Amino acid sequence: MKLTIGMAVYDDYDGLFFSLESLRLYHALGRYQAEIVIVDNHPDGDYADDIKHYVSAIHEVPARLIPLREPVGTSAPRDLIFRVAQGEWVMVIDSHVLIAPKALEALLAFADEHPEPAIIHGPLVAYDRKALWTHFDPIWRDGMWGIWGTDPRGAEAHLPPFEIPAMGLGLFVCRRQHWPGFHPMARGFGGEECYIHEKLRQRGGRVYCLPALRWVHRFHNPRRATAYPNLWRDRIRNYILEYIELNRDLQELKDHFTVEKPVLTPAEFDALYEQCRAESSSPTPLAAMTTTPPPLPLPTAPDGTTALPTTDSGCGCRKPRVHFQELNEWFTFERAHSTLGAATLETIAEFARECPILVDCNATAATAAACLSTAPQRYVAISDADPRWWWPQATAVRGHTEMTYLKADPRKVRFPQCDCIIVAGIDRADDVLHILRIYAPARRAIIIGTQLHGGGEMSADGRGPGLLPGLRLWVRRNPQWVVVRHVADGPGVTVLSAVPDDRPNVPGAWRMVATFAKAVAQHVASGAQYVTRDILEERLNICALCDRRTVGEDGRERCSVCGCYLTGGVAGAGGKAEWASQDCPLGKWPAPNSGVHTSEKA
Ligand code: SF4
Repeated sequence: MKLTIGMAVYDDYDGLFFSLESLRLYHALGRYQAEIVIVDNHPDGDYADDIKHYVSAIHEVPARLIPLREPVGTSAPRDLIFRVAQGEWVMVIDSHVLIAPKALEALLAFADEHPEPAIIHGPLVAYDRKALWTHFDPIWRDGMWGIWGTDPRGAEAHLPPFEIPAMGLGLFVCRRQHWPGFHPMARGFGGEECYIHEKLRQRGGRVYCLPALRWVHRFHNPRRATAYPNLWRDRIRNYILEYIELNRDLQELKDHFTVEKPVLTPAEFDALYEQCRAESSSPTPLAAMTTTPPPLPLPTAPDGTTALPTTDSGCGCRKPRVHFQELNEWFTFERAHSTLGAATLETIAEFARECPILVDCNATAATAAACLSTAPQRYVAISDADPRWWWPQATAVRGHTEMTYLKADPRKVRFPQCDCIIVAGIDRADDVLHILRIYAPARRAIIIGTQLHGGGEMSADGRGPGLLPGLRLWVRRNPQWVVVRHVADGPGVTVLSAVPDDRPNVPGAWRMVATFAKAVAQHVASGAQYVTRDILEERLNICALCDRRTVGEDGRERCSVCGCYLTGGVAGAGGKAEWASQDCPLGKWPAPNSGVHTSEKA
């Protein structure tokens, strides 16, 4: 699938109808291998049935309608589009946006030539066809971060693309794997513009205006007031959470909302800030997304365990009951209630989503819901344990996913073809190594439990090495694998990948030259000393599990923070980890000159 076109809708049946009809009539979506994803953020509203009826009639391209009751807002439903999308590129438009002829063609041509992380916009054309707006300048005005701006480089559709600071989010495009995600705790209306662009830039991405990608937005609908809640408090809360995440100075935010646009007193702002700070540091911040109780909690048996749900009426055959009619409801429930924690499940959903075949070792309801949320082609659950109630539940909401259940110990079977493995319920180094070896065709591995038992260093019985020593050894033996994420919340989850696109980028050439020159000067000044073999091993073991370690095009290991080779260096003169004068730029190694050094290479 090349392109997903997604819209979040809240009661706006008219807007959605005309936006989609325009796409279907004038853009030949099938030609772009496109699919349509609609997230209805008010599935109990007056127009929900009309929307469902209309979307079900679309047949020339795959079209899905996903209800999302909570959280209501502009962030969560649009984030969900990226989570469920199957297209390589995802275009998200408001439910009342029309796109100019040939814009999609130009977009995909540009996208194919720009594989780097980017958010792509196009000029918004005014109703009078005289004015257009190419970007947002990141300036505070009237309660909003960003004001419309016009760059003459966007005046004609045939002009080349150019970089912009930000843009209104009525239409935006991002490669699915590069989407940085809105703040997971955002709710209500607004606060995303400039934040999401800055977030991507902090990760090395760019923001473009593609002049051919022109669009029109219906700003005013005389028949309908804004249907969703648009509260100042929500918006300011979103901005505070985002400023905290971006590590920006909160004072400009406070000045704006207490002086320039005084909707809060300084004391109210401070109280809101304290609340956001507390929520941000909560171990399960996603739980805070849900403002109403999660649906249908599972029954609890008298002994305190979760009971197998059974039918309580009908033929009396006591078949397992399906609790959730929609996959996203089930996944929301698991995120709020699973002992694995929301962060773990979100990580699975994030890294498994581009992988057509998933193998879930020691599968549970929670990992199954997370895996299925990525809409894989095939989901294989391997576990000795009875899947109890969740297999029928999974089957009921699996969509087009083909499902297989193998009742077996995942260490003792081998599933020949898979793209990503999810491993839970393993605590020993030799077991995790064994599993990585037998499922090696997988290019990603999501290992759960890497914070348990001595921070992942010990097995559960305390008698042997745990998961982290196993992963360290795997990476040292297979340096093309890198750690792309380590989440310390809950039981901990570590994601390893051998996909080249997952590797962190090294800094630009000039910065690397400057860093290297400085390192050489320090090395010479220190008497060209090298560390001992023990210290080298210690350093390389730390780098092995660092998410800033990367592998260059030449297949050699580098630190992505400074760009230096870890070993070997230029012409074999030694790498960062070998030179005694060097330290880790993130302070993960012992301070330089604190070990025993030798003038020989270790
Ligand atoms: S030098 Fe430090 S930051 Fe770089 S890869 Fe090693 S541990 Fe990570």
